[in-house]
Amino acid sequence: MALEFRSVTKQFGTGDGGALTAVSDISFRVDEGEFVSVVGPSGCGKSTLLSMTAGLYQPTSGEVLVSNEPVTGSNAHVGFMLQKDLLLPWRSILQNIEFGLESRGVSKADRRDRALKELAHCHLEGFENHYPYQLSGGMRQRAALARTLAIDPQIILLDEPFSALDAQTKLLLQNSFARTIAESGKTTLLITHDLAEAVLMSDRIIVLSERPGSVVAEIRVDLPHREEPLKRRIMPEVGDYAAQLFKHLKLEEKAA
Ligand code: ADP
Ligand code: MG
Repeated sequence: MALEFRSVTKQFGTGDGGALTAVSDISFRVDEGEFVSVVGPSGCGKSTLLSMTAGLYQPTSGEVLVSNEPVTGSNAHVGFMLQKDLLLPWRSILQNIEFGLESRGVSKADRRDRALKELAHCHLEGFENHYPYQLSGGMRQRAALARTLAIDPQIILLDEPFSALDAQTKLLLQNSFARTIAESGKTTLLITHDLAEAVLMSDRIIVLSERPGSVVAEIRVDLPHREEPLKRRIMPEVGDYAAQLFKHLKLEEKAA
């Protein structure tokens, strides 16, 4: 299923304090099965783009389209995963993965089957009866991904899912997410402020300006092994892509 932003502008607030324009006239498309990252300075409206895709906010103007239909509210095709895993502490890992299925009226036996399947996909076998506090940060993020995948969304939204992790855990988790997502064939939009991560994981990268965020560049990452960021990592071209991102984000000018 494809995802498209068509001239999307989002303002928050009105009246006396004045409106704050978070993003301005954003247009780009994520094709079915594609993995696209969005990078840009803090506060430029990246999370706002995901919230509009998940139907939490409406654009002030323009449209967000999922499978060519404007998003008008919460959408069963879209799975949203945040930096903070939001696992419920009083539920076991399996019960956490089942959580989204309960509100969708899936039977108890089916819920368990689907949750166990995603648990295995995310390499958490043996931890179904553990509680979130008993898991490492990386494992908790995998449990959160399993919960997102369990509802079988056609589009996965990831908002800086690796940013709270140490460097090694991050690399391993990027690799395991990339493989799971590639196997699922799902359309994915990743928000990150980690430029290397964007190069290692994406088919394409959208670069946003400072607030109000608008698209300043769209870069196709023409490298193999999207399903295995650890393999991409040692390719010399990765540095060239990162340098392009640096340039578009004007990082040298800002450092001067
Ligand atoms: P990013 O994820 O790129 O750091 P956000 O999308 O979170 O940026 O925020 C973009 C801008 O919109 C920020 O200035 C933020 O304060 C503002 N903003 C985000 N959500 C709201 C909201 N619900 N109400 C008012 N302002 C908001
Ligand atoms: Mg954000």
